[in-house]
Amino acid sequence: MLNPATPSRHDPAVQCPKCHIEMVRLDAQGTFIDRCDKCGGVWLDAGELAILLKFSGDKKELVSLIDVGAATETHTRHAVGTVLCPRDHSPMATVADKKQHHIEFEMCMTCCGVFFDAGELADLSDFTLRERLKAMFAGKKK
Ligand SMILES: [Zn+2]
Ligand SMILES: [Zn+2]
Repeated sequence: MLNPATPSRHDPAVQCPKCHIEMVRLDAQGTFIDRCDKCGGVWLDAGELAILLKFSGDKKELVSLIDVGAATETHTRHAVGTVLCPRDHSPMATVADKKQHHIEFEMCMTCCGVFFDAGELADLSDFTLRERLKAMFAGKKK
C-alpha cells in the first residue's frame, strides 16, 4: 500500500496521471519530486510543496531545476477527462489560477498532492503560488 502521508525518496515511483507511465524522481535541493519524461508534468506531494514554498534560496533557480518548461506533447493538456491522483486514485480537482487564467493545475483533495503541466510551475509567480495555495488550504478546512 502506498502511504501518501510520508513522501520520501523511498516511495514507490508514481505514474504520470496523464500519460500513465512511471515518472522520474528528481532531487531538487533535497526535495524529491517526480517528473514525467513524456509530458514534462510535475507531481508534488503535499509535503514537498510546503518544502518548496519554504525554500529560502533562489526559488526561480529551484523551479527551473524541476520544471523543464514547454511541454513536448501539449495534447495532454486539457485533453483528458478526470485525472486520478497517482497516490490514492482519487479524482483530482482542476484549479485555475485567478490572475493567470491560462494556468490550470490538478489538486488531489484527499492527499493535497498537486500535478502541474510542464511550464506551469515556472509560469506561476512565487507570490501567486503562495496565495493560491493558502486560499485552497483555507477553503478545504471550512
Ligand atoms: Zn506525463
Ligand atoms: Zn491524492
